[in-house]
Amino acid sequence: MTTRQCPYCGKLVSDFRAECPHCHETIPKIRTAAPQRSDVGWRKIRYGLLCMLLATLIHYFAGGYSAMELPFPIQPVVTVYLTPLLFLGGLGLSLYGFYSRRKT
Ligand SMILES: [Zn+2]
Repeated sequence: MTTRQCPYCGKLVSDFRAECPHCHETIPKIRTAAPQRSDVGWRKIRYGLLCMLLATLIHYFAGGYSAMELPFPIQPVVTVYLTPLLFLGGLGLSLYGFYSRRKT
């Protein structure tokens, strides 16, 4: 059982009580902030752009476009299927974020 301090008399009161048993003042409820609806679209756009950036980086290094020699071989299925899939998934997620931002 969690307790918190009464804002009027300073004594410890159990968390679920709406009224202080010592001074009989009403204890205000603590509200947790709900995420705003406009934030949801931005979050999807950000995740989508991050996925696209990650796919571009993986494709660049795994495809051998950089001069850096990788210490381990990478299967061609990564650059042929997986990084385009990640890129298109990120593009779709950010477009869905734009769409849901415009709708609200
Ligand atoms: Zn009190």
